[in-house]
Amino acid sequence: MRRVYLDNNATTPLAPEVFEAMRPCFIEQFGNASSIHWFGQQAKAAIETAREQVAKLINARPNDVAFTSGGTESDNTSLFGIVEAAQPHGEYSGKHVIVSTIEHPAVLNAAQAIEKRGVKVTYARVGPDGMVDPAEVKSAIRPETVLISIMHANNELGVIQPLEEIGRVAREHDVYFHTDAVQSAGKIPVDVEKLGVDLLSLSAHKFHGPKGTGALYVRKGTNLRPLLFGGHHERDRRPGTENVAGIVGAGKAAELAQLNLDSEARRIAALRDRLEETILANVPQAFTNGDRTRRLPNTCNIRFNHVEGEGFVIAMDLKGIACSTGAACASGSVEPSHVLSAIGLNRDQARSSIRFSLGRMTTSEEIDLVLEILPAVVEHLRAVSPHYEKSRQLSVVSSQP
Ligand code: PLP
Repeated sequence: MRRVYLDNNATTPLAPEVFEAMRPCFIEQFGNASSIHWFGQQAKAAIETAREQVAKLINARPNDVAFTSGGTESDNTSLFGIVEAAQPHGEYSGKHVIVSTIEHPAVLNAAQAIEKRGVKVTYARVGPDGMVDPAEVKSAIRPETVLISIMHANNELGVIQPLEEIGRVAREHDVYFHTDAVQSAGKIPVDVEKLGVDLLSLSAHKFHGPKGTGALYVRKGTNLRPLLFGGHHERDRRPGTENVAGIVGAGKAAELAQLNLDSEARRIAALRDRLEETILANVPQAFTNGDRTRRLPNTCNIRFNHVEGEGFVIAMDLKGIACSTGAACASGSVEPSHVLSAIGLNRDQARSSIRFSLGRMTTSEEIDLVLEILPAVVEHLRAVSPHYEKSRQLSVVSSQP
C-alpha cells in the first residue's frame, strides 16, 4: 500500500544527508569530547561545527547555544532555570511567570510544577484565531515577574505568535523572554535578535534531524541555573557526556533546513493550501481552526463537524494516510486538546478536528491521493454518526420557508 505521511509536526523522517553525517560518530569518531587526545578532539570539533550550524539557523552566537536532549528539556531548563536563578536560596514563592494557555505540555506542565512550589503563574489567553495578545501579556506583568514564555508557532494550529511585540514588552519591563520554537525552527525564519528573545528551545527531529537532540539558546548574560548537575559540559549549561552523533545530526539538519528555507516553505505552503482549499470547497461542514494568515507553511487544522477525530485518523491510516487529532503526546487521550478548547471550541468540535502537517518529503501526487480518499472517509463516518443525521434534519427544517 502506498503510504502518505502528513504528521510532520509530530516528527519528521531523518534526512539521508543527516544520516550520512552521523554515521562516522558511531564508528571511528567515537571519542568523548572532553578527552584531550585525538579521538576526543575529533568529537569536540564535530560538536563545535554543529553548534555553528544551529546558531546560524537562529542568528545566534555559537557560544550562546547549548545542546540538550530535545525540546522538552530545553523548555524545562528555561522555566526552572530562570526561576531558580532568581531565587538562589530555593524559595520559589514571590516570583511570577507568564505563559500562554496554548503552550506545549513541555512548558505548561513545567509551569504547573513551579506553580506547585509557590511561583505565581499567569496563563495568557488566546483569541479564536489562536493568537496571544501582547497587550494582555503586558498587563499581566508585575514587579515580581521573572519570565515570559510564549511559543513561536503552535504545534496543533501552526499559528505564529506576535513574538516581536511581546519581546519589546519583555525588554521594556526587564523580564526574561523564552520562546518554544520547536515547531518553527527549520520551517520559517527564526532570528533571536529580531524576536527579542533571551531563551529559545528547538528540537532536531522536527526538521529532519535525529530524535533526542535539541538545543537551548541562552542570550549572553542571562542568569540561568542548569536543570541537571554534573560536569562542566556545554559551558555549564547542560552537564553530561555529549550525544555527539545526535548533535552532529542536529547541526547537519539545521544547515540543510536553512539552505532551502524559503523555497521549501513556498512549495509546502502551496501544497497545504491546495489540500485545505479543496477540502473546504468539497466537504460540507468543514472549517479551518485558527488564523489562516499567520501560520506555519506546513500546517492546517480542519474541523469536520460530526466526525469523530480518532475514528477519522484510524480510517485514514487503514487507507495508508497518516494524520493526527492534535499533539502526538496527547493521542489516545480522551480529553479534547487544550489548544482547541483555548480557542473556544466545544468538546465535540475539538474532537472532530484533524491536523495535517506536511513536510519536505510531501509531494503533489500524495496530496492528490489524500484528496481522493478523504471525502469518502468523512462521508462514511458521518453516515454512522447519529449526530450528523440529526443536524441534517434540523438544517433542512430551518432552511424551509
Ligand atoms: N514544544 C513543541 C511546540 C513541540 O511540538 C514539541 C514536540 O512535539 C516539544 C516542545 C517537545 O520536543 P521534544 O520532542 O524534542 O522533547
